[in-house]
Amino acid sequence: MIIETKGHSQKNAVQNTALLFFPLSGFADDSDGRVITSSLETVDGIAESVAVIEDNGRKTEASVKARLDEKCDEAALVSKALFLAGREHTGISPAWGTVTGIRAAKFIRQKRKFMTSAEIAEIYCVREDKIRLSEMVCESEEKALSKLDGKSVSLYISIPFCPSRCYYCSFVSHSIEKAGALIPDYVKALCDELEEVKKVCDKTGVYVSTVYMGGGTPTTLTAGQLDVVLSKVNELFDPKLFDEFTVEAGRPDTITEEKLDVLRKCGVTRISINPQTMNDKTLERIGRKHTAQDVVWAYELAKSKGFDCINTDLIAGLDTEDEKDFDFTLDKILSMRPENVTVHTLSVKRAANLRDDGDSAIERASLTEYMTEMAQKRLLEAGYRPYYMYKQKNMVGNLENVGYALDDKDGLYNIYIMGEYQTIIAVGAGAVSKVVNGKNGRIERVFNYKYPYEYLDDKQKMLGNIARLEELIRETL
Ligand code: SF4
Repeated sequence: MIIETKGHSQKNAVQNTALLFFPLSGFADDSDGRVITSSLETVDGIAESVAVIEDNGRKTEASVKARLDEKCDEAALVSKALFLAGREHTGISPAWGTVTGIRAAKFIRQKRKFMTSAEIAEIYCVREDKIRLSEMVCESEEKALSKLDGKSVSLYISIPFCPSRCYYCSFVSHSIEKAGALIPDYVKALCDELEEVKKVCDKTGVYVSTVYMGGGTPTTLTAGQLDVVLSKVNELFDPKLFDEFTVEAGRPDTITEEKLDVLRKCGVTRISINPQTMNDKTLERIGRKHTAQDVVWAYELAKSKGFDCINTDLIAGLDTEDEKDFDFTLDKILSMRPENVTVHTLSVKRAANLRDDGDSAIERASLTEYMTEMAQKRLLEAGYRPYYMYKQKNMVGNLENVGYALDDKDGLYNIYIMGEYQTIIAVGAGAVSKVVNGKNGRIERVFNYKYPYEYLDDKQKMLGNIARLEELIRETL
């Protein structure tokens, strides 16, 4: 596809909008027979954008006029014109309109400071139910943000190991068959890095308010290894200041009574037990080495140990599942009534790996959208509230992932990291620290080595990263 712009330089906005209707397209040439022209002209203070789609001999045109201001800027106007043309041309009407960024709730929260919901719906073509969803998420965010004081940070501990690899996995995670021998050294290296983080906290005066051990599957570690890392966290940082302490137990085939006892002893307040689906056939097809019954077993065991905040991750649009399969999963999960339910959707990258073309990717997206709407309806009816949300990059249908919570059980770390509201210090292989500077609005990232063997081989790099973190944190104070 070729994109031509006239009278403006909002090519990115035009490309992002074009991808809503022609997913998986490239912009290098017109070998797919498509040319999109987007123009902008201002006469007497009124701007008009015209979008023309020429698609293998078929032509569709749309235009919009507005006075450019804070509410409707150039990017918004050219995107809207193309959105209207794309909708007419393809018959597809993406629910999030021209809001294509990952942080849709944050975008709408910022716009709501000076725009009404109706204005957002009108200018960005967002469906009303998505604005309502964003508003509910914003309410939860407000509560979580009130806990931040400019001195608190989150601590992320990366455990990039899993018992085996799921076919849809897009993380850097290593099956223990291949990388298990590295784990003892990895545990030691993590403790060393945590010691260095502690020094940064002491020198700068920041403190850890939420801890999140994620992966991978952290419970791939033995009970003893978990004990070493989590006890180290408690020894170095002040657990009385922790608003939340999460460990992703992830796959039930890694959970044992002994490990749960260690998590309880170390003050973990929130765990994940992730079924993805409660259909055994799908679990087998996607390479998970456990059954739905194993999920129930692990969940009940964790409850009997006193865990009162358990998250379950589900995936809508997984493999060959249809509405009935997804409904069955929702039935099972709602009967367990976990405090958090996170509904994910598969990304277009995965669809591409399944060798879909754009059209079948759109069909898949529309089924997935139906499933996410079904999940939202059923979870709201069951008393859950959406508390955080993000959209995956390159998601077909521009769909969102949503975390739902009962009562006041919102996962704070999820809110902070997704909204980029708080500095996250991340340790371990594949970890990326993010320093949020409230003074200038900048976000700086510090990248650890991606793979465990690199991380273990170069302690100097870790020390260099820690020094950089300290420098960046000082700038925020
Ligand atoms: S459990 Fe998660 S991180 Fe591990 S392989 Fe599966 S999808 Fe990837």
